[in-house]
Amino acid sequence: MAQVKSKDTKPEMKVRRLLHGLGYRYRLHRADLPGRPDLVFPSRRKVVFVHGCFWHNHPDCERVRIPAANRDYWLSKLERNSSRDRRNAALLKEGGWEAQTVWECQLGDLQAVAERLVSFLGRRSRA
Ligand SMILES: [Zn+2]
Repeated sequence: MAQVKSKDTKPEMKVRRLLHGLGYRYRLHRADLPGRPDLVFPSRRKVVFVHGCFWHNHPDCERVRIPAANRDYWLSKLERNSSRDRRNAALLKEGGWEAQTVWECQLGDLQAVAERLVSFLGRRSRA
């Protein structure tokens, strides 16, 4: 079963290193924003979430395998997590923030993630 989530989960570190290497600068885990986005780009009013597939219930993802034991418990727990993510996304949008989610399973192709994030974030900041 998945381990307890810490702030610096490995998938998040990969995305941080990737964006840093591309010349982007960002804030981390702004607690005053809905969902405490993993990476925050205040001047662009954009945020990036790095989501573990299981805990955030990535739709149609093979990494989301509901344990057979306590199936109902897990189904309702993961559904609650999904609703919370949707609610936070809506709140961010209301506040004028654009959000992008990188899923753990997408990190096998970092080049594709880089291209998507560069097109989402726009021109990189001067280093
Ligand atoms: Zn996934």
